[in-house]
Amino acid sequence: MRITVASGKGGAGKTSVAVSLALAAGQALYVDCDVEEPDGALLLHPHLTWEEEATLSMPVVDEGRCDFCKACSEACQFHAIMVLPHKVLVFDKMCHGCGTCAFVCPQRAISEIDRSIGLIQGGDRDDVGYIGGRLNVGEPMATPLIRQVKAKIPQDAPLVVLDAPPGVACPFVETLRGSDFCLVVAESTPFGFHDYLLVEEYLRELSVPFGVVQNKGGLGDDRLLCHLEKEGIPLLLSLPYQREWSRAYSLGVPLVEAEPSLSEGFLELLGTVEARL
Ligand code: SF4
Ligand code: SF4
Repeated sequence: MRITVASGKGGAGKTSVAVSLALAAGQALYVDCDVEEPDGALLLHPHLTWEEEATLSMPVVDEGRCDFCKACSEACQFHAIMVLPHKVLVFDKMCHGCGTCAFVCPQRAISEIDRSIGLIQGGDRDDVGYIGGRLNVGEPMATPLIRQVKAKIPQDAPLVVLDAPPGVACPFVETLRGSDFCLVVAESTPFGFHDYLLVEEYLRELSVPFGVVQNKGGLGDDRLLCHLEKEGIPLLLSLPYQREWSRAYSLGVPLVEAEPSLSEGFLELLGTVEARL
């Protein structure tokens, strides 16, 4: 079973919930797809056993062979290659490495080289496996790295918990792709509720089954809970705001270790999700 843990905004407690869910379940794989700000390892403290560089192919033009016909720039959907009268420019940060330009070049003037976009690491902590990606500083495209991180997930992993980037942009969609269920972590504050609604709308559009974990309950108001009740959306767990839990988080202590009794709630949540699939 693959569960994506999402949130409409950063700071909602998504990573905290994802790591605690994996730890409570055991025999699980935690996958940090929040590659722009990966902090799951700071809570899980995995023993890292491997790492590899993530790369993306980018075109290199042999201007000795090129006749500046512009077929490459006309074929590129991403405006990543521009043909001037006597020069071809490649904008590496806009290039998706799709290979179309090389495919259409009539002069076979385009070859490809690998460009580093980040790092993928893996390891484990007891019976919880870890895979995480880290995007290079200044690298604008998270999606290709997330795809490469997910490609490392073993097919026979019994439970995979994917920690998604916040928001509903392409990196979230790439993380969610292939998941059986989405757990949305939300706060009942005006901003939190607004951002939650964006995720809900998206999940409905994609017909992905989902449920909600309310975090920092007691802060804000009851608009989130009223909405869930009205719409018949399952509230799978409610975590009250506790100053000690926030402190534990800041010290890198997972929620289920700061408050072991919460493991039961996470296991019940898992049972409810399984029963719904
Ligand atoms: S398609 Fe090939 S030959 Fe034409 S401009 Fe691009 S690199 Fe040059
Ligand atoms: S590899 Fe794809 S994205 Fe990159 S320049 Fe060529 S056509 Fe454009």
